[in-house]
Amino acid sequence: MHHTVHARIEGALVVIGFGSIGRGVLPLIERHIGFDRARFTVIEPLDDFAYLMRDHGIRHLQMALTPENFAEVLRSLFPDGRGMIVNLSVDVDSIELMKLAQEIGVQYIDTVVEPWPGFYFGSTLPNAERTNYPLRERVRALGKAHAGGPTAVSCCGANPGMVSWLLKEALLRLAADTGATANPVTRADWAALMRALGVKGVHVAERDTQVSAHPKPPGVFVNTWSVDGLLSEGYQPAELGWGTHEKKLPPNGHAFDHGPGHAIWIDRPGADTRVRSWCPDVGPQFGLVITHNEALSIADHYTVRDQDGQAVYRPTCHYAYHPCNDAVLSLHEMNGAGQRQPGQHILTAEEITGGGDDLGVFLYGHAKGAMWYGSRLSCDEARRLAPHQNATGMQVTSAVLAAMVWAAENPTEGFVEADEMDHVRCLEVSRPYLGRIECHYTDWTPIRNRINSFAEDRDESDPWQFTNFLAV
Ligand code: NAD
Repeated sequence: MHHTVHARIEGALVVIGFGSIGRGVLPLIERHIGFDRARFTVIEPLDDFAYLMRDHGIRHLQMALTPENFAEVLRSLFPDGRGMIVNLSVDVDSIELMKLAQEIGVQYIDTVVEPWPGFYFGSTLPNAERTNYPLRERVRALGKAHAGGPTAVSCCGANPGMVSWLLKEALLRLAADTGATANPVTRADWAALMRALGVKGVHVAERDTQVSAHPKPPGVFVNTWSVDGLLSEGYQPAELGWGTHEKKLPPNGHAFDHGPGHAIWIDRPGADTRVRSWCPDVGPQFGLVITHNEALSIADHYTVRDQDGQAVYRPTCHYAYHPCNDAVLSLHEMNGAGQRQPGQHILTAEEITGGGDDLGVFLYGHAKGAMWYGSRLSCDEARRLAPHQNATGMQVTSAVLAAMVWAAENPTEGFVEADEMDHVRCLEVSRPYLGRIECHYTDWTPIRNRINSFAEDRDESDPWQFTNFLAV
C-alpha cells in the first residue's frame, strides 16, 4: 500500500518512552515521515518491547531519564544540533526538556505537560498548585521568552491536541448550518466566531466502549492507554475553563489568584467528579472532569476581551470522559479502597473483542441546542489501519504524527499549542486514522432525564449552567 511521506526530519529523531503511544506511533512515523534510521533512538527503561525496536532497526537506549542525566544524554544524541525530540514517556519533565530543546536547537513535541515524579503523588504542594493551570502558565511564560525559537509543540495528542482542530471544523460546520458568515483567520476571529454563534461551552466528550473477553480481575487497574497517565491526571484536582455566562462556582470551586484567570479548580479529584454529558454512541452519559490542558487552552484561545482587557466572552470548557468500562470499575475499586491496585494492565488491540472510541467536542448553548463533532473509531478499524494500537491509541498517535509533520514544516514557530497550529494541515495528516468524523445535533440538555426527583441544585432559567451539568 502506498503511503504519503508528508515531511522529512533532518538530523536525529529521539522518541522518549516506548509505551502504548510510543509503540503505536512507530508504524505511522515509518509510513509518513522521512528520517535517517541510523539516527533514530528510543529512550525507554524497560526491555519488554526491545524486540520491536530491533526488528525495525532502531537504537534502544535502555535507561530512565532523570533530572541528573537528561541534559547530558539528550545533548549527546544531537551533536550537530539538528533533529526532533518526541516525548511520549511518563515521569520526564516536559518543561525541562523544552528548555533543553531550545538550547540544542531542535524541535520538540509532547502530549501533556509532564513533571518529574513527586508532583502527582506524595506532593506537599497545596492543591491549587497541583493543577494544570500553573504548569501551563510556566510553559506560556517560557514560550514568550523563546518566541521564534525552534518549534516546541506542547500537549499534542488526541486530547489535548486533535480536539482543538476538530473544534475549528465544528465551529465552521455550525456556522454553515445556521447561516452565519465565517471566515476566521486570526485567534481573535475564531473567538469572535464562537461568541457570535452563541456557544456557551465545550465538553471534550469521550466514550470509550472497548471491551475484552476477560472480566477485570480484582486488584488490577485496567485501561486502554497509560494507567499511570490516567491516575496522574485523574488525581489532580478537577479543573475547567470558566465561561463568562456562569453564575456561580461549584461546591469547593476556586478561582486562581494569579495569571489570566480563565479557569477554576475544584477541591476534589477529577477522576471522582462527574458531569452529565453526551456522546453519539450512547447519548446522555456521565463523564469525568479530569483536568486537561485543552480545557485551559481552549478557554484562553476563545476569550474575547474589551479595550480594557476585561473578558467579555469565554466558553466554559472541560473534559467529560467516560473511560472504558474496565477503567470505570477500576476507578470505583480504587476509590473504595483508598489506594492504588497492585497490578495494572493496558488492553491491547489483540485482546479487545469489541467497541471503539468516540472522541469529539460537544458544543452547547447555541441556536441549534447542542452538537457533538468528532472521531468515531472502532478497535476493529484501528487494527486494520496500523499495528500495535487500539482505537484510543490511534486517535493519539495520528495526532502525534500530525504534530511531527507540522513541526518539520514549521521549524521556527517557538512554543505552540494545538489551538495555534494549522488545523487543516494537521487534520489532513491525521484524518485517515480517525475513522468516521461525524456531526450530531441533539436537543438533550443536562436538566433532561432524571430517575425520580431528588434534591439538587438546578438552574431552570439556563440549562447550560455548570451547576446543571455537575452530578454530585
Ligand atoms: P505508557 O505508560 O504505556 O508508557 C510510558 C512509557 O514511559 C513506559 O514505557 C515507561 O517505561 C516510560 N518511562 C517511564 N519513566 C521514564 C523515564 N524516566 N525515562 C524514559 N521513559 C520512561 O504510557 P502511554 O499510554 O504510552 O502514554 C505516554 C504519554 O502520553 C503519557 O504521558 C500520557 O499521559 C500521554 N498521553 C497523552 C494523550 C493525549 O491525548 N494527549 C493520550 C494518551 C497518552
